[in-house]
Amino acid sequence: MMSVYSFSQTQTFVQCPRKYQYKYVDKIKEKEFESSPDLILGHSVHAALERLYNQINIFKVPNKDELLVKFKDQRDTEIAEATKEKPLEMKWEQTLEDYIRRGIHYVANYYDKYSPFEWVSIIATEVSITFDLNPPSALADTSSFIKEDKNGIKFRGFIDRLDKEGETFVINDYKTNKNLPPENKEEYQEQLTLYGLWVQQNYAKYYKNIKARLHYLHFDLTDEWEITNERLAAVTKKYSDIIKDIEDKKFHYNMGNKKIFEPKQNNFCKYCEYYSLCPLRAHLKFDDEVIGGELGEKTVKWLVDEYVTLSQQESQAKNDKELIKALLVEYLEQHDLLKLFGNTGKISASKLENISLEDKEKAKSILWELWLLNEAMEIDRFKLQKLVKENKLSLEQLGDSAIKSTSWVLRSGTQ
Ligand code: SF4
Repeated sequence: MMSVYSFSQTQTFVQCPRKYQYKYVDKIKEKEFESSPDLILGHSVHAALERLYNQINIFKVPNKDELLVKFKDQRDTEIAEATKEKPLEMKWEQTLEDYIRRGIHYVANYYDKYSPFEWVSIIATEVSITFDLNPPSALADTSSFIKEDKNGIKFRGFIDRLDKEGETFVINDYKTNKNLPPENKEEYQEQLTLYGLWVQQNYAKYYKNIKARLHYLHFDLTDEWEITNERLAAVTKKYSDIIKDIEDKKFHYNMGNKKIFEPKQNNFCKYCEYYSLCPLRAHLKFDDEVIGGELGEKTVKWLVDEYVTLSQQESQAKNDKELIKALLVEYLEQHDLLKLFGNTGKISASKLENISLEDKEKAKSILWELWLLNEAMEIDRFKLQKLVKENKLSLEQLGDSAIKSTSWVLRSGTQ
């Protein structure tokens, strides 16, 4: 079966593989979609700009007032629809009027900035796209990409507007967020760059260059870049690799490894729709339970809090112990002693010689020449575990040279 991926799917996987599993593999439905002031704002601004460019495309540029009237109609219809059953949920101290004012500002400002719109030919507005995730045409023989095969990987997305400016095709995207993403947050850039593949696969003979342009309407800012083959190749490779990883995990999941999509704690966990299924969050909604043992009957919450307290004491004790050790070592060195006595306890001291490696490769070749390499080398069991976890090595391949055992590590912290 052909797999079709989208940018939000790959983003979900990068954010948390387990969330990806719940949403796209197990296909567990999220909460009913609810409209929000942000969505209405984004949608009605996009609709107004779509209408503007559709008019421009038939050489009938509307004036600003006409455009604003259409924008307000669309926005009011959406607000009426969304508030039929209950009022919209507002974030922080914002009111609906704040959103309304913002929308008018974005549309009016955009119009002033780009009118009289003489320089642009519009190829498409608000278009759903699907394309092959193959390397850009000029680099088609690059071997490390996912190759098109009978199960070909497709990518789908959405382009707000595709223009032709001279011999350049420009992919435009409007953003109505009130927060400007920092320069190093490259998701938007990668997304539009990747859509360059669709342009390549559909319009190759009509353009010389492809550009992408992000319009941050709240800030009256544009971010623009050329989608060169090299840039496109790097982004295609990145997303090919993410999809290979997803496909690989899906294969192992379907073969019975139900833990292969690991939960990954992240800043959005508290808004996650699947928290009640997730081993990292589900317990938050459990009722407290009493469990018995050598400590007598205790509730789970009490045991957790006690464990955290003990861990904190342990770590404080470790720090104090190191400070005391430094003082005592100094004292026994000054007095050339090997034993120290307290009122009830005593300490015996011995000095160890430690060797640390400065140049591992050089040391290896010296030991090799001295036939001592095997005696000095130790297989790193953590690296071995990592190879098995990443499915690069199986326990079967290790035969009886290794056995698997399970242990738990409990790390403590505050909520
Ligand atoms: S709660 Fe966090 S870790 Fe769990 S599935 Fe959701 S995003 Fe992933």
